[in-house]
Amino acid sequence: MTLEQSIKKEIRDIADFPKPGIIFKDITPLFYKQELCNDIVNGFIERLEEVPDAIIGIESRGFLFGFLVANKLNVPFVLVRKAGKLPYKTVKEEYALEYGTSIIEMHEDALEKGWNVIIHDDLIATGGTAQAAAKLVEKMGAKVAGFNFVVSLDFLNGKSKLVNHTNNITCLVHY
Ligand code: AMP
Repeated sequence: MTLEQSIKKEIRDIADFPKPGIIFKDITPLFYKQELCNDIVNGFIERLEEVPDAIIGIESRGFLFGFLVANKLNVPFVLVRKAGKLPYKTVKEEYALEYGTSIIEMHEDALEKGWNVIIHDDLIATGGTAQAAAKLVEKMGAKVAGFNFVVSLDFLNGKSKLVNHTNNITCLVHY
């Protein structure tokens, strides 16, 4: 079985969550499979073009594999969180949701200028969240060297929002 097949076997579709019409891709069953989790971490590492200076994880499911990959690569892991959660001074980015807007933040001293970083999340849907994280990274004088996602919902074409930042986009599983 390929890595993609092994992951798809575990991901559970939850209809109409968090609202009617959305099919939520539940990744929590992956965390019962320790060997598969190791394969996922190694899958991301094998697909890297270069070792980045840091990995940026997007709250909250982006913290899970994002941190494991960063730690195995021996590079810093940086948290991007929803507004109001980080304790120190932050840099913010506002972005559009289906209805209204949201704000994400990073500590203002989290990145060094010129660093090449990878942005990591569990899933790309419309791409708005990852794009906002990329804008934060660039505001801080660092460079987006790549994006990593466990799952891509290809039919929503989220990648089109990211290619302005980099073409280096890795998704282990496509729907
Ligand atoms: P987007 O900004 O539209 O690309 O949405 C990506 C963020 O929303 C990620 O942090 C995902 O965890 C979450 N998300 C959006 N759609 C889904 C879905 N169908 N299943 C699971 N998570 C989703």
